[in-house]
Formats: sequence, structure tokens, C-alpha cells
Amino acid sequence: MEKILSGKPLAKLIQSKIKSLIENERFQPKMLLIQIGEDPASSYYVQNINNIGNKLGCEVLNNIYPADFSQDDLLTVLDNANRDISINGIMLQKPLPSSFDELKIAETISPQKDIDCLNPINLGRIILEEDGLFPCTPLAVICTLKYYKIEVEGKHIVIIGRSSIVGKPLANMLLWKKPYANATVTVCHSRTKNLEELTRSADILIAALGKPAFVTEDMIQSDSILIDVGINQITDKEGRQLYVGDIDYNSCFDKALAITPVPGGIGSVTSSLLFLNLVKACFSAHHINKSIDDFLNYILLE
Ligand code: NAD
Repeated sequence: MEKILSGKPLAKLIQSKIKSLIENERFQPKMLLIQIGEDPASSYYVQNINNIGNKLGCEVLNNIYPADFSQDDLLTVLDNANRDISINGIMLQKPLPSSFDELKIAETISPQKDIDCLNPINLGRIILEEDGLFPCTPLAVICTLKYYKIEVEGKHIVIIGRSSIVGKPLANMLLWKKPYANATVTVCHSRTKNLEELTRSADILIAALGKPAFVTEDMIQSDSILIDVGINQITDKEGRQLYVGDIDYNSCFDKALAITPVPGGIGSVTSSLLFLNLVKACFSAHHINKSIDDFLNYILLE
């Protein structure tokens, strides 16, 4: 197994497989990408999504609304997009204005077009192990483990972080009765008392808490596999802006069996998987029903 679990070759593989899927069909998947306000980090991410979409032959309709856009207007945009048969997937760029009711908005996005997996119906399907559209970051972790042929079944996986977009769905996906899951999962959070004892018991440690270099060498066991979901912007001593993960890469590198880098790790895979969801939603709209396992096998096994 490689020591550095780079996301770049996997992202490239996912993109090339998605591109050939699209080339072989008569339809072009179309995403509505909604951004409210022009937060620089959001604009950077949105630009990246546009670039990937263009490269893969998808249409990305990028609607940018002013920062004072109202919730009612957003709900109308979503209702119209749900009804518009030319739109296959809806992606709502966060952050939203703080006064918005995020649950109501998530419930308004049609579950069939919910490519960022915000709707409670899609989140519920994860627990029931039913097929649907799955959240891209947890899926990126699953794909990374599968791509690097890391045995997950029966392993003790400790996740730090219990958010609804990463920690909780990922924990449930790793519990799926599937050969690439079947793990024993412990989820830690800000109120966990014996955090270090738990992280040291992990065969695979996944950090998703949003605290730069939080996990240090003394918190891991030798030969553990470290998956870093965190993306934190910091300023170094020379005043440069950098991105670092939640794991202290340098201190943990020697002791770990393998580690994902930041940047160039899970984050690189995540944005490509948004297009996997788009293609899946588009295929379903054309009555071509392929499960997530069909897609993962096509990408990773063939
Ligand atoms: P969040 O703030 O919603 O949740 C953080 C979680 O960490 C909470 O459940 C909290 O209980 C836990 N936590 C905080 N401090 C802790 C502590 N000291 N000890 C133990 N647990 C603690 O964050 P999020 O949206 O899940 O994002 C987490 C990180 O992942 C961020 O750095 C974010 O930028 C990154 N992220 C990356 C991707 C990607 O594609 N790679 C996608 C989404 C988020």
C-alpha cells in the first residue's frame, strides 16, 4: 500500500470514467449551481465545479444571487428547478445567509435532484441502506479506502466529528453490510471524554472536526491509517495563507501506515463525486437505474 493516499489519481480516474459514461449517452447532464452572495471561498469552489463540469461534458448553470436574496425567492427558484425537466441536479453552495431555515430549504430540493445530499429523505436512506444520492465527502472517504484496497471489514474506525454532512453519514455508511464497509465505528465529538484513548484504539482514524493539525502523533497507534477530511486555512509565520488538515501531517507521518495529504487528498475526490451524483440523477431521470455500487464498480473495478 502507498504511504501517501493521494486523492489526485482517484479524482482523475473518476472524472475519466464519468466523461466516457456521458460520451456514450445521448443526453448531457445539467446541474443548477446556486450561490448567494460572493464569499471568496465559495466563489473559488463554484469556479472549480464549473471547470470540472466543462471538462466532463456536463452543463453547469451557475446562478449567483445577491447577498440580500430572500429565503422565499430561493424556495421559488428551487421549486422551479424541481419542475424543470432539463435540470438533473441541484447544488446549493454554502454558506447561506444565517437567517435562512436550512432544513426547510433542504426539504424543498427534490430528493431525485439532491446531488449534495441535503434532503432528509436521502440522509435517511443512508441509515436504511437504501440506494439514493449520497453525500460527496463521506463517499470520497469510502472511494479512497476502496481505491487503495484498504481492508475495512471488521476494522475499528474512529471518526472525530459528528456533523450531518460528514461525521454522521460517514459513520452510517461505514456500517453498511457491504464488503467495502462492515466496520466497527466509534464517533467522537466535542463532548467525548476519553478522546485520545479512543483515537489510539483506531485501525483507521478519520478526522473531520475543522481544527488545524488537531491530531498529533501521541493520539494515534503505530501503523494506523489516517484519513484527513479537514480543510483549514491558516497563516504561516511568513504571513502566507495555507490549507492544512485536522491531522498534524508531519508529526504523524512516520508512525502511520498511510495518510491522506491536505490539500490533494479527500477534498480532490469530493468535487468529482458531485458529478457522479449528477450522472446518477440524470440516468434515473432517463429511466436508467444504476445503484451506487454499479457506479463504484464501474469506476474502481473495471
Ligand atoms: P462542523 O463544524 O459542522 O463539525 C465539526 C465536528 O467536530 C462537530 O461534530 C464537533 O462536535 C466536532 N469537534 C469540534 N471540536 C472538537 C474537539 N476538540 N474534539 C472532538 N470533536 C470536536 O464541521 P464539518 O462541516 O463536518 O467539517 C469538518 C472539517 O471538514 C472542516 O475542516 C471542513 O472544512 C472539512 N470539510 C472537508 C470536506 C472535503 O471535501 N474534504 C467537505 C466538508 C467539510
